[in-house]
Amino acid sequence: MEWNVVVLDPIHFSGIDMMRKAGLNVIEAFDHSSKNVEELVKNADVLVVRSRTKVTRTLIEAATQLKLIARCGVGLDNVDLKAAEERGIRVINSPESSAISVAELTMGLILSLFRMIPLADRSMKEGKWLKKELEGTQLYGKTLGIIGFGRIGQAVAERALAFGARVIAYDVDKGKMAIAEKMGVTFLSGPNSLEILLRNSDVVSLHIPLTEENKMIIGPRELELMKPGSYLINTSRGGLVDEKALYQALISGRIAGAALDVFEEEPPKNKDLISLPNVICTPHIGASTFECQLANSVEIAKKIIDYFNEKTSN
Ligand code: NAD
Repeated sequence: MEWNVVVLDPIHFSGIDMMRKAGLNVIEAFDHSSKNVEELVKNADVLVVRSRTKVTRTLIEAATQLKLIARCGVGLDNVDLKAAEERGIRVINSPESSAISVAELTMGLILSLFRMIPLADRSMKEGKWLKKELEGTQLYGKTLGIIGFGRIGQAVAERALAFGARVIAYDVDKGKMAIAEKMGVTFLSGPNSLEILLRNSDVVSLHIPLTEENKMIIGPRELELMKPGSYLINTSRGGLVDEKALYQALISGRIAGAALDVFEEEPPKNKDLISLPNVICTPHIGASTFECQLANSVEIAKKIIDYFNEKTSN
């Protein structure tokens, strides 16, 4: 029996080749619009998306023979998991391949903030020589607070430790403590952990998923708890930070700066936050490296092929 794999967002061709070689009928539908997407998924056995396409209840209902939703990448916040579960549709992702790329971007953003690299570049292109004004801060000896000590949080910790930073991490999963201790990271996992982390960090970096409970985990109260003059990095998901509260904390000087790869709305329509001079922005490029995209597409293709073989072998 042939399965139709409808790929709604562009993925590296290696994964597509692997699936075709395994006997799957892969339909590349990268240019779909909200108008024709329901028609395209009608005969799909598998849907493949990255973060762009929202796999809504309506879309799931339109795909009447759907068996598997494959999210190429980490977060599952663009998939209606409840609707999938109700129909008995399995949802998978490829979480192993993104950690290094996101961690490297996170380090790049921390260093860009501390040394004002984007402003230095911009001012030189404008013919200015701001040598005195561009006195920055060292990461060496500072405290980095990591919220979420999973794959990416750990990869960021490893890199920050190499820079001579002190690292504290907070994770709801106490099981991460042993890894932290082995790395030389101070681990927090109690009721006041977030508060302790915010009060003690020179730079706070978010590495948790966007779930109902985690929505706006950084709001006015949390920003107020942050060390005066500290920095916030978000390479995780936009909905984790209350952008209005962040804007206020930045213009009041309560926190010194922020670096954001992700936004409540993407691309962001409200330009107030991203226009601030103490904000550095990138357009959700955490996983956008050649290596990461290749590994992601191979990881997801392998899982799809395994599932197909499992379901069709009897
Ligand atoms: P992971 O599942 O390995 O780690 C997440 C960790 O967060 C887990 O250890 C979990 O216990 C912890 N956690 C969850 N809620 C928490 C809370 N409220 N407080 C403290 N800890 C909490 O995930 P990962 O692979 O490290 O990815 C983390 C996130 O990074 C993803 O969910 C995704 O949103 C984001 N991401 C962004 C990009 C990008 O392009 N910018 C790319 C990949 C992933």
